[in-house]
Amino acid sequence: MLEGKTAFVTGGSRGIGRAIAVALAKNGATVIINYCGSFEAAKETEEIIKNNGGMAYLLQGDVASSSDVERMFAWIAENVKRLDILVNNAGITRDNLILKMTDEEYSQVIDTNLKGVFYCLKHASRVMLKQRYGKIINISSISGIHGNPGQVNYSAAKAGVIGMTKTLARELSSRNINVNAIAPGYINTDMTVHLKEEIKAKALETIPLKRFGEGEDIAEAVVFLASDKASYITGQVLSVDGGMGI
Ligand code: NAD
Repeated sequence: MLEGKTAFVTGGSRGIGRAIAVALAKNGATVIINYCGSFEAAKETEEIIKNNGGMAYLLQGDVASSSDVERMFAWIAENVKRLDILVNNAGITRDNLILKMTDEEYSQVIDTNLKGVFYCLKHASRVMLKQRYGKIINISSISGIHGNPGQVNYSAAKAGVIGMTKTLARELSSRNINVNAIAPGYINTDMTVHLKEEIKAKALETIPLKRFGEGEDIAEAVVFLASDKASYITGQVLSVDGGMGI
């Protein structure tokens, strides 16, 4: 479905990002896997893709750093030439109730989850506008739609990503570029594994499909939005949350 396409996935070393990178490659795309600090984990993602017969590159860089993002896109321009699919997946949490949340916790989340997305969108837009083709998928969160106690920083960033998605969908639509967001619910990854059992049990009660999601649940939605089967869909937020947000 994605043969001949090139995809850049931020935060592709583990979790949802790994599942997305693997699924895009399984569907024929050449995948550039961005990682920040975890080379070993990123290498594992690359090996999974190569063992499945896919093509992948590793690209180190901190998405919260404007200069790192500039360097990564310069590398893509020089070595891969085109960019058909961008998946803004990298993200962090620094949860705290508002009275306890430090300026640093707030800024770290905004820098990675919102500014990082902006930097990648800016560079990818330049390439995609010239190509007159592109698929951008931003990983937001149910927290950015409904809010979540302890996450003023995270929900602000994820709601911001939804705003960026809609604006950019309008800005880029005339050049055959689709921009959509996915809002995952509760997905089993390193981000959620450390939550207290009582919090997990409470969360499960709110999910009509009665299970937490897996990275692959998000990855399949990304593959669809990255494909030409979704060519008439833009500016949308697709919740992949087991019905949590109904
Ligand atoms: P994770 O912690 O397992 O993975 C996050 C990835 O982002 C890691 O590979 C990490 O190294 C990378 N990353 C973090 N900061 C980075 C930076 N500055 N530069 C480059 N890479 C960086 O978490 P996950 O659950 O796989 O989350 C993936 C995305 O999905 C995030 O945007 C997250 O907010 C979102 N999300 C997750 C859930 C969930 O329940 N797990 C729910 C909603 C949304």
